[in-house]
Amino acid sequence: MKKIVTKFGGSSLADATQFAKVRGILELEPARQYVVPSAPGKRYKEDDKVTDLLYRCYNQAAAGEDYQPTFARIVDRYMSIARELNLKVDIMAALNEVNERIGQGASADYVASRGEYLNGMLLADYLGWRFLDSATAVFFDANGNLDSEKTQQVMSGILADDVPTVVPGFYGCGADGEVKTFSRGGSDITGAIVARAVNADMYENWTDVSGFLMADPRIVENPRDISSITYKELRELSYMGASVFHEDAMFPVHKAGIPTNIRNTNKPYHPGTIISLNAPVETAVPTITGIFGHKGYSVISVEKAMMNAELGFGRRVLQVLEEEGISFEHLPTGIDTMCVVVNGEALAPVREKVLSRIVDSTEPDTITVHDNMSIIATVGRGMVHNCGTAARLFSAMSRARINVRMIDQGSSELSIIVGVDDADFEATIRAIYNEFVG
Ligand code: ASP
Repeated sequence: MKKIVTKFGGSSLADATQFAKVRGILELEPARQYVVPSAPGKRYKEDDKVTDLLYRCYNQAAAGEDYQPTFARIVDRYMSIARELNLKVDIMAALNEVNERIGQGASADYVASRGEYLNGMLLADYLGWRFLDSATAVFFDANGNLDSEKTQQVMSGILADDVPTVVPGFYGCGADGEVKTFSRGGSDITGAIVARAVNADMYENWTDVSGFLMADPRIVENPRDISSITYKELRELSYMGASVFHEDAMFPVHKAGIPTNIRNTNKPYHPGTIISLNAPVETAVPTITGIFGHKGYSVISVEKAMMNAELGFGRRVLQVLEEEGISFEHLPTGIDTMCVVVNGEALAPVREKVLSRIVDSTEPDTITVHDNMSIIATVGRGMVHNCGTAARLFSAMSRARINVRMIDQGSSELSIIVGVDDADFEATIRAIYNEFVG
């Protein structure tokens, strides 16, 4: 039988009206047998997410302040959903227990995890489905990383009976037996874990946008939707900050070859974006899938005659960065120059030290730093089949009078990365978008 795992984000479960939409979506497709809920999110722009209120309670309690007014707002969120939907589950008793545990000094992870735990209880009651406490089925190792093999074994064992189940997102059980959360937005990861455990045909991630857009709408007016994208392309785009999906959630489903569909709870008939291992066979693969970038990089350029003949030169430069805790983003090299692109903010506090250490260890002819540089990635699996993509991209930039400061194209031919001055960031994205999309 076909199996679909659905994960609903916080805004999709923010109040009773949203709960009703979720039930409607589940009823539309009987294969939707597993639900992973987030904690109630914002109902309107200025609203607070329950997870943020829970962290606030924790911080207030830890500082010896009165957290009861904040906790009362959390009670109100859950009680109004329970009341409006006529739910039978004793959510007040569960809330009282959480309140008591906060007062007794419960950990931040425990407190934050209650957002999804309580929402899962409400949802299971509303749907008449089984509730599975994630602390009994998601495990972390002693380093705090997901123990994917143990989790897979236990979760798949529990869910093998094909009973429709609600599995709250965001948390599991740490190596010490205490509740532990993923990083923020981590319910996406729980959804991917459940999808892998039941060997789902599809992992649906329901949120408040209809999938991915080809570019940031604050830069390009009405950018087109991306209807399909591969996991590899998404990795490149989310590296540039394009994600509406937790990056770590990609690995369990990618590994298991399960496609992910990003959908909009408020527009349930919109097909959204499908992320898959290999993109579906389409009549015409678009040349580019998306364009995203970031401002604020610094480029360290080290120049030395006959650098190529000097064994270990690159290693010595990178070793300095490693020892100073700076990770590098790109590494374009010339014959006698080596450029290291790093995050400008990360470099700032150790800048002088890094430069003098590189000088000491490599004795270069010159070393310069160029700040305020943007990196823009134009990503597309269609590039492999199309001659002249780079030519079109650079002509579009030259027509817009943008100076290209750096070029980097991986041998996978999946993306072309350009570096421009921060002042040219928006204009570059628009020029490339207009050239390929129109
Ligand atoms: N509720 C958690 C957060 O706000 C996890 C999630 O929503 O995915 O980060």
